[in-house]
Amino acid sequence: MKIICIGRNYAKHIEELENEKPEHPVVFLKPDSAILPRKNPFFIPPFSNDVHYEVEVLVKINKVGKYIDAKFSHKYYDEIGLGIDFTARDVQAKCKEKGLPWEKAKAFDGSAVIGEFYPKEDVEINNLNFQLFKNDEIVQDGNTQAMLWKVDELIAYVSQYFTLKKGDIIFTGTPSGVGKVSENDTLKGLLAGKKAFEIRVK
Ligand code: ZN
Repeated sequence: MKIICIGRNYAKHIEELENEKPEHPVVFLKPDSAILPRKNPFFIPPFSNDVHYEVEVLVKINKVGKYIDAKFSHKYYDEIGLGIDFTARDVQAKCKEKGLPWEKAKAFDGSAVIGEFYPKEDVEINNLNFQLFKNDEIVQDGNTQAMLWKVDELIAYVSQYFTLKKGDIIFTGTPSGVGKVSENDTLKGLLAGKKAFEIRVK
C-alpha cells in the first residue's frame, strides 16, 4: 500500500507557515515503512530538533481506480479516519530552501500515525470536526468544511498521477495549530468526538 499526502489544504495553515496558496493540491508520498506501528510510542528522530505534529483526516481507498471523476470519488472509499503527518520542520525548511524533495522531512520511519477508521455513513465528510490534544490541551481544531479541495476532488486529482489501490490511505492536509513535539508528550486525536488515537512521544 501507499500513503498519499496533501499539503496546504487549509488556508489558515498556509498562513501560519507563510506559504503561498497553491494553484493545485500539493502532493507527496510516504512509504509503508513510515507507518507507526499500533501502540508504539513515536520516537523523535535524531536528525531533527523540530518535529511537528499535523493532525489530518484520512481516507482509506477500497478499490483500484485511475482517472476517477470527482462525482464518482465516493465509490472509492468506505472509511474515514484520523492520523498525524509528523514533519521534521527544520529538515523540510532546508529542502524547501534548496527546492529539494521533502521525503527526509516527511516520510521517515514512524512519521505516519494511522488511527481508527469509521464507516463513512457515520460521518459527514464535508462537515467533520476533528481535534488534536497535546497533554490534554487542545492544539488543533479543524473542520473539513475549511478544506481548499474536498475529499472527492482530492481523489480525482491524485488518481490522475497514481493508480489508487485497495488499502491506500490519503492524508488530506492539516488545519492551523501545528507545533513542536517534545519527549513525554501525549498526543490524542478526536474525530467527530470519538477517540481515534493516543500516542506517546519518546
Ligand atoms: Zn500534512
